[in-house]
Amino acid sequence: MSFSLYIHIPYCQAKCPYCDFNSYAAPAWPEADYTQALIAELGRRASEPPFAEDTLRTIFFGGGTPSLFAPHSIGAILDAADRSFGIDRDAEITLEANPGTVNLSKLAGMRAAGVNRISFGAQSFDDRILKLLGRIHDAAETREAALLAHRAGFTRLNLDLIFAVPGQTVAGVIDDIGQAAALEPDHISAYNLTFEEGTAFFAEMKRGRMKPLANEEQAAMYAAVRDEIPARGYPMYEISNYAPAGHEARHNLTYWRAETYLGIGAGAHSFALAQRDSRASGDHYGRRWWNERSPARYLEMARCGGMAESGAEEINGATGASEFVFLNLRLRAGFALADFEERFGRSFDDIFAGRAAPLIDGGLLVRRKDRVFLSERGLELADSVFAEFV
Ligand code: SF4
Repeated sequence: MSFSLYIHIPYCQAKCPYCDFNSYAAPAWPEADYTQALIAELGRRASEPPFAEDTLRTIFFGGGTPSLFAPHSIGAILDAADRSFGIDRDAEITLEANPGTVNLSKLAGMRAAGVNRISFGAQSFDDRILKLLGRIHDAAETREAALLAHRAGFTRLNLDLIFAVPGQTVAGVIDDIGQAAALEPDHISAYNLTFEEGTAFFAEMKRGRMKPLANEEQAAMYAAVRDEIPARGYPMYEISNYAPAGHEARHNLTYWRAETYLGIGAGAHSFALAQRDSRASGDHYGRRWWNERSPARYLEMARCGGMAESGAEEINGATGASEFVFLNLRLRAGFALADFEERFGRSFDDIFAGRAAPLIDGGLLVRRKDRVFLSERGLELADSVFAEFV
């Protein structure tokens, strides 16, 4: 069996005011120590179940800003991952990068270290919006970074965009999409800005100094995103993600399909699906756990024995079935009824017929042939559809 590995690097040059990730602005970062801690954690995880016998099919360096690290550090982590588990020959290896932190030699070094997919946080091509978002780069730097990534040999390149930023217009969002597509990425993500508790934007909103766009404006922007990105050759395959067939983010598909992944690094989450025979009882579907969030405490823990787990929960079949449905419904193709039954040993109708019927009658959910997926209207109201399955 193969599984996915997420590696969290929590340091950033500056904290963006909308960001609620486990990331920390730092003038300098303990790169060598953190790299060693990750390597220790990999070794420990490889020595025990449930991952000891399995190989890696995708690896994702997320953050934070993994592109702050030098290629030799990323290479050392990948070497350790290969020694510990074995990396599949066709594995997808993604590194998140901030356009303000790369040059040709760094990108070429990352490619040589084994990274084969780069994901840039472009966010917008309007410098006024980038400033409001607290980004450390301008649009020209994003354009340059994408060109350099191509030159460094990256054929797989994602650009992240954000919409529904106060001050943004539908025309501005469409312009961002056009500018992103012109850089010829093979994948585009477009996320609706949310004001998450604990962020500077949330505090500004509470003080009345910042106002999210009205729901209708946000919906109009999401509709424009859903029309304009596919019109440029990137079909939607997930609520926020667009790519031609075969170019989907394989790592993220692991999450949406509710499959097993290991997360290492400060605050990283993991999920392991139980073996089929122990899932059958319904009591033991899987286990989720998470690491210590603080980078300093993570370093201390991981260095003494490679474990930094700070919490865990057992997941029973009922919770697992809910998660399977609302995660898979994020995908444009939804899920196959046969896959549901294979996972849970019971049919979808057996568990969810009562909840699905009104959603199908109301035109939010579609059941066609052997699949269940969101309708166009269901995409707009996805959160309320998901809530029905929780
Ligand atoms: S660069 Fe990314 S991870 Fe870091 S603060 Fe900004 S949005 Fe968050």
